[in-house]
Amino acid sequence: MRCAILADIHSNLSAFTAVLDDIRQRGGADELWCLGDVVGYGPEPHQCIERLRHEKHVCVSGNHDLAAIGKIDTSGFNALAAAAASWTAWQLTPEDRLYLKGLPLTIEVGNFTLVHGSPRDPVMEYILSAYTACENFAFFKSRFCLVGHSHALAVFQYRAGSCSSDELSPDAELKLGEDRLIINPGGVGQPRDGDPRASYAIYDSATLVLRLYRVPYDIAATQTRMMQVGLPVQLASRLTYGV
Ligand code: ZN
Repeated sequence: MRCAILADIHSNLSAFTAVLDDIRQRGGADELWCLGDVVGYGPEPHQCIERLRHEKHVCVSGNHDLAAIGKIDTSGFNALAAAAASWTAWQLTPEDRLYLKGLPLTIEVGNFTLVHGSPRDPVMEYILSAYTACENFAFFKSRFCLVGHSHALAVFQYRAGSCSSDELSPDAELKLGEDRLIINPGGVGQPRDGDPRASYAIYDSATLVLRLYRVPYDIAATQTRMMQVGLPVQLASRLTYGV
């Protein structure tokens, strides 16, 4: 079984579509695993939800998904994210809201646990260091955990009570074995690791290989739409640099 792993689509239909096309060109996927934040920041929240619902998929809820339906308040968001969240809330159809409301915080599938932030705090915690990762290995039972939220590629390994993080190239191939891992496939709609291309992964359960991919997309088209709908200019310009 081949699973495409996507995190942080963030209402960026151009990036999302480019990733879906890339998956198809690589032979397709049996299922899409979405790690939350389908909406927020970008200009096409409804279209991204609709597009996602066309795919065979599972999806967990992210902090921006919850903010868009009023399930968390935006006091913990920076001003730009909060402005985008309240704009997003007005764009959703009743069906979109029902869909987001129905998303679980955690999904276990085979050897994987899927969360947006961290197993300890699926909504808000960022796993940015081996130290934080190490504390989180106690909070999930499966061998592997997939996270999003930081919008940056990362892999953390747990072995004999200690944790380490490995540098990942944008097209790294991870052969999954006995070691427990927490993996972040990077962000689709708003990458923050200095590479503006959309980031995602494909896992093949037959070979046990998880492969990362980076996909160029029409950044200018997304930025133009963001300006047309009145989203903050800083949110548009950061897409150019992947920060
Ligand atoms: Zn996010």
